[in-house]
Amino acid sequence: MNLKNYIASIPNYPVEGVTFRDISPLMGDGEAYREATKQIVDYAKEKQVDMVVGPEARGFIIGCPVAYELGIGFAPARKKGKLPRETIEVDYGLEYGSDILTLHKDAIKPGQRVLICDDLLATGGTIEATIQLIEKLGGVVVGCAFLIELMELEGRKKIEGYEIFNLMEF
Ligand code: AMP
Repeated sequence: MNLKNYIASIPNYPVEGVTFRDISPLMGDGEAYREATKQIVDYAKEKQVDMVVGPEARGFIIGCPVAYELGIGFAPARKKGKLPRETIEVDYGLEYGSDILTLHKDAIKPGQRVLICDDLLATGGTIEATIQLIEKLGGVVVGCAFLIELMELEGRKKIEGYEIFNLMEF
């Protein structure tokens, strides 16, 4: 199965010059969604992962089935104001904008091994912020898994030293 057949590319969305890579056809197909999940689970299996963290919103779509399949927990990283209990936060830049990302203070226990899942690695701002949140809580990031990596934006340069796993490159 070629998972790229399940990614829709929308030119100049949400702003001029950006090609949006839409994963909803992949999510909308049971076999493709399961195959993508399986490939990330296979990658994570040997890493003794304790928790999965996914940044909102599409990180939930990827991270939750992976955590479920691994039999471990999932913690959401969310924009400021969305999590109801005590949080930690970091500022971060995006391909189109900037924001504050937060994590519940008790989401990760010191020493826990964490896999980060998201739909797409673009500039790396989101993943960098997510790593900072996890490390502030004493977690150990053992891998960052994405459906898609946009190679020309060189997001991986922001997180040198961390393992990156992708299913598709554009
Ligand atoms: P970044 O922080 O720049 O790596 O951006 C990562 C987040 O923004 C991802 O979680 C995506 O959901 C979203 N994103 C950024 N660029 C794109 C794009 N070209 N197509 C689809 N989603 C994108």
